[in-house]
Amino acid sequence: MRMCEITPAELAGKHFSCACGKEHASTVRRVVVGSGAYLGLPDAVRAFGGKSVFLAADENTHSAQGEAAAELLRKNNIKCTVHLLKAEPGFERPEPTEAALGNLVMGSCSGCDVIVGVGGGVVNDLCKLLSRPGNVPYIYMPTCPSMDGYTSDSASVIYNGVKSSVSCKCPDVLLADTDVISKAPKKLLLAGIGDMIAKYVSICEWRISALINGEYYCEEIAEMMRRYRAAAFDNAEKAVQGDPAAVEAIINGLCLVGTAMTYAGCSRPASGVEHYYSHLWDMRCLEEHRQCELHGIQVGVGTLLSLRKYENFRKITPDRKKAERSIRSFDRAAWERDVRGYFGASAGNIIGIEDREGKYDAGKCLDRLGRIIDNWDGITRIIDEELIPSEKLEELFKKIGHPTSPEEFGESKKSAGEAFRHTCDIRDKYILTRLLFDLGISPDEI
Ligand SMILES: [Zn+2]
Ligand SMILES: [Zn+2]
Repeated sequence: MRMCEITPAELAGKHFSCACGKEHASTVRRVVVGSGAYLGLPDAVRAFGGKSVFLAADENTHSAQGEAAAELLRKNNIKCTVHLLKAEPGFERPEPTEAALGNLVMGSCSGCDVIVGVGGGVVNDLCKLLSRPGNVPYIYMPTCPSMDGYTSDSASVIYNGVKSSVSCKCPDVLLADTDVISKAPKKLLLAGIGDMIAKYVSICEWRISALINGEYYCEEIAEMMRRYRAAAFDNAEKAVQGDPAAVEAIINGLCLVGTAMTYAGCSRPASGVEHYYSHLWDMRCLEEHRQCELHGIQVGVGTLLSLRKYENFRKITPDRKKAERSIRSFDRAAWERDVRGYFGASAGNIIGIEDREGKYDAGKCLDRLGRIIDNWDGITRIIDEELIPSEKLEELFKKIGHPTSPEEFGESKKSAGEAFRHTCDIRDKYILTRLLFDLGISPDEI
């Protein structure tokens, strides 16, 4: 059976020799998705020889599942120390910051031999980092379907003021109890749908970069993402109406994305320019000390905005002379001033990324420009094959109550435009705005 045709539970613990040349393996030993999945917790702890658990949750996720999990452990004669992550003053939820991780480290107990994380993405990301030194066994129990990082080996955290992907260990065991997850507030499900819908753009940009830059690409992993992004699209309406099978289809997709990233050894299967809108909004919120919107909701709107940008991009005909002039006239000092104005305290890190990567180096850009023009038909074919019309996504979002504009969560057209302009600055990933830069087209032009 093809790797892309089996469920996350069937994938756990298996190895695949793939046509892409890689041996795909994930360190996730066991995945259980379904009703009553949390009942497997004592056995999962014992399988590691665990006698004393450190359980981390936040106040909401503790009442949703943490309390029952701690009680179940104690009934099974397994010691359980609970630590509740708290939101910082002025915030509704804990944020994935250095301070939150420090708080978790200080609350952890020295004799604990297994870590259990109960909650959403922030709890999971912080526990993944906590379990990294010493490779402590880590069991994750998601309480909401709000994001797709369940089984990834990277944590999305604010590090030195920049929203960063920090490598860590992935959970050894995932127990996704659909009875608990399906009771999560509807907005969290909408966020999960938004995060899965992003895979239209991420796969499109992965293929484009593979074509232009010769970046590693795996068709099996891409096909996996295509199946689950379609499942999220097709099941979204029923899922928000509470249909358990539809919710499970979305959860399965969310469970799979982390494994897909581990298989690929990069975040390409999961994220592209649409995710950078989210990272930049998060960074601005932190800078301005205001609560940011849920990741998946930001990403859902980012996907809609990105689809519209790609529709405008499809109307372009490359102009080699204009592109060459633009690449050669890149003004590093003006760029730095712009970056300092937008990123504030974290600007130094952004400038450091450019010093290391040389994204705007004229020689490299001119080389790529040649390859872009040579492969123009291939690029437009990929866009046509991978993307859906923005109106189709907007229609779905309106039906299910997912926001369709940044204004619905405290951002603005202006902040979305500024975010789009800076999506090319924060990482080295080759995305739409990098392609625009190489073609000498300003992000505001499309
Ligand atoms: Zn492969
Ligand atoms: Zn995401």
